[in-house]
Amino acid sequence: MISLRCARLFDGDTMHDGPRTVVLDGGRIVGFDDAAVDVVDLGDVTLMPGLVDAHTHLVFEPGSDILADMASTPRDVVLERMRRHAVEALHAGITTLRDLGDRDYLAVELRDGGGLLPEILAAGPPITIPGGHCWFLGGEVPADRSALIDAVAERVSRGVDVVKIMATGGGITPGSAAHSSQYSFEQISAVVEAAHSAGLPVTAHAHGALGVRDAVHAGVDGVEHATFLDGTGGAAPDWDTIAEIISRGIYVGVTAGRLLTGPPTPPHVLAARAFLARMHRSGARIVCSSDAGIIAYKPHHCLPHGLSEFQGFADISAAAVLTSVTRLAAESCGVGSRKGRIAPGYDADLLAVSGDPTQDLAAMRSVSAVYRAGTRVC
Ligand SMILES: [Zn+2]
Repeated sequence: MISLRCARLFDGDTMHDGPRTVVLDGGRIVGFDDAAVDVVDLGDVTLMPGLVDAHTHLVFEPGSDILADMASTPRDVVLERMRRHAVEALHAGITTLRDLGDRDYLAVELRDGGGLLPEILAAGPPITIPGGHCWFLGGEVPADRSALIDAVAERVSRGVDVVKIMATGGGITPGSAAHSSQYSFEQISAVVEAAHSAGLPVTAHAHGALGVRDAVHAGVDGVEHATFLDGTGGAAPDWDTIAEIISRGIYVGVTAGRLLTGPPTPPHVLAARAFLARMHRSGARIVCSSDAGIIAYKPHHCLPHGLSEFQGFADISAAAVLTSVTRLAAESCGVGSRKGRIAPGYDADLLAVSGDPTQDLAAMRSVSAVYRAGTRVC
């Protein structure tokens, strides 16, 4: 049993000013006890739940030529690199990460391999059409109902936590148009039915309006990006589909994590961020994640660096941003009953930062301590 004293505590939803003492036992949070003995005083810090990065790619070496790298790097080299990336994330306070696209089910292997790492949730290779977005990860499946059902069955047998389908093309794949659909409504529906009957959630990568709409009506649990890119360098949100996203409680993953030193946000991404504030005001469950690995300015620890920019796009309070990367992100990954909050019974995955991030999100980059299942990491 150990107890941690902090100057302020953010519980996943609310900031509690003034000293609090959190009691941990066996990797779990037991409760609060300001009279506890055997206390570790963390000093003038805000203690909060460890961050949940709901969209990462541990296999990608940021800044590499992804196609050439995935084609030539042996699996043991990739696996070791993934471990290093996971440790980088952990030291930045990311105690849970959902890998939404690996090669050879290596994120499943890393998840099951032990060691002091973030909790990993893995999708395996994303389902994509032959030659489609991220085909080089090995998840090519023809646009055919029975082939798609077989692909889900393979993922179930490999022990994935979530099924990822590329409903549209994407930016990092040569020859792929982000706004174009890859699968039909019926085909996405087949994936969703097969996954749900095996007890697995589905999240769909979707940029174009048709792809988002088909995924939403097919019953996916999450939509990644939902940028409504129109193929002309702009974005055209479909508010009927957004209303459906809201009424169905579908999580929207906005991959805004990026280093501050990266290039300016490109115009098509700015266009896609321009309607986030209205989406949030309308009640959408928007999770801020990173897509770490896909490009040089998205290293695996980048999530906390993008939070201020995300706050500006979404026009929400800093506290709401913190909820988006803790409590809400945990719920979107299906682990909301044990991650993303500081509450009795929750996992002792904790982050202490200097200062008060509800006043200034820059404090999220001043990591003072990280605990993973009650073990101090740094
Ligand atoms: Zn991604």
